[in-house]
Amino acid sequence: MRADYKRCLQSDYERRFRPPAPDRKYRPDQPRDSWGRWVDAGGANATSTATGITDHRVLSDASGDPIVPGAQYAQNRVRNPLTTIWINGQQFELTPGQAARLAVAEARADFSTARVREIDPNWKPTQSWAQTPEGIIKAYNAEAREAQDRAYELSRQGIAPGPFAGESIPARGPKCDFTAAERREINRIGEATGCHTCGTLYPGTMLRNFVPDHQPPSALNSSGRAQRLYPQCAWCSKQQGGAVRRFQLGKYK
Ligand SMILES: [Zn+2]
Repeated sequence: MRADYKRCLQSDYERRFRPPAPDRKYRPDQPRDSWGRWVDAGGANATSTATGITDHRVLSDASGDPIVPGAQYAQNRVRNPLTTIWINGQQFELTPGQAARLAVAEARADFSTARVREIDPNWKPTQSWAQTPEGIIKAYNAEAREAQDRAYELSRQGIAPGPFAGESIPARGPKCDFTAAERREINRIGEATGCHTCGTLYPGTMLRNFVPDHQPPSALNSSGRAQRLYPQCAWCSKQQGGAVRRFQLGKYK
C-alpha cells in the first residue's frame, strides 16, 4: 500500500465529520506551546512572538542557522494532524494510542469497502451515528467486518473469484469460445485447486471438463474490465447464473 493511500481513500467519516478546514493544517503563524500544540493568541502561552516564532528563518524548515531563538517551536510542531478530530462540530483531543487505533481502523474500513465496491460499486455500509472517537473506531471496525462479510458472500455466489480461487488465465473476451489449450489449462487448475467457488474437485459435467468461468462475470462487467478465467463446477456455474440475475435486479441480498 502506498504511504499516501489516504489521499485516494477518503472515508465517509472524514467527509462527514472532519471539516477540511485550514485549521487542521499546520499554519506557521499560529502560536504553539513547547509541545507544538496550538495555543490561543494572547493566551497564557502566547510567548511565541517574543521568542521569534514569526521569524521566517525558524519557520521555513530551511536548514540555516540552527541557533535561532525559538527554533524548538519549528522542531516540536505537531506532525500528525489527526491528534485532534472534529465530530459533529465538537473537537476531541486523541491520545497517541487512540490516534493510532483510529488510523488503523479507518484504513481497514477503507480497504475492505474499496474491495467490495470493485465487485458491487453501489455497496454502502450501515450508517453509524458515532459521537465519540471510541464510537468512531467501533464504527470503522464494524464497517470493515460488514464489508468483508459482503465480499465473502458475493464470492460464494460466484459473483467474484471464490474462496478456492487459485490460478487463473486471461480471458480473450466475454464469449465462451474456449480453445483446446484454454480448456486444458482450466482443467489442470481445477484438478489442482478445485472449483473456485465451492472447492470440489469434481467438475460435474458430462465430459468431466471444468467450466471456464469469467471473472468478473460478463453480465456484470459493463465497465469492460479485463476478465480472467477460473475453473468452476457445473453446479456452481448454474447457481451463479441465478445469482447474477438477482444481482442485476438489485434483489441480491
Ligand atoms: Zn463449485
